[in-house]
Amino acid sequence: MFRIGQGVDFHQLVTGRDLWLGGVKIPHEKGAKGHSDADVILHAICDALLGALSLGDIGTHFPDTSVEFKNIDSKILLKRSYDLIKAKGYSVVNIDATLCLEQPKIKPYVPEMQRVIAAILELGDDAVSIKATTTEKMGFVGREEGVVAYASALLMKREK
Ligand SMILES: [Zn+2]
Repeated sequence: MFRIGQGVDFHQLVTGRDLWLGGVKIPHEKGAKGHSDADVILHAICDALLGALSLGDIGTHFPDTSVEFKNIDSKILLKRSYDLIKAKGYSVVNIDATLCLEQPKIKPYVPEMQRVIAAILELGDDAVSIKATTTEKMGFVGREEGVVAYASALLMKREK
């Protein structure tokens, strides 16, 4: 009746790109590089949803070689991943995500991220947890070369 999934995603931080995190555009001098809008939080959540039902991963469903997904809003990818879950008869119980980045501080944007993600997944805002940590200046995150997100998702089979 319950299924659990986890996801992780990485993107480089570069100048000349917008920084999208959790479906929200964050003002910053660097943005995440990728084929889509490169939203690590949403990509990790997509993988957690797909992983919970052994449906492969985001690259399987939305290949980065496809022009259809060039610069696509990752909210669309999250919606499509959720549609795959729903088609299997499951709903989401809760999401817990952790973002690793050095700068900027994302705390002021967390409530909006929760609202955006909860609306797509048909959840209450309190069923979507977004946490953030630095890596204490260590590694590629600490050098502000990249950003990482981890997500877990619990799914429940809907009553017939
Ligand atoms: Zn990604």
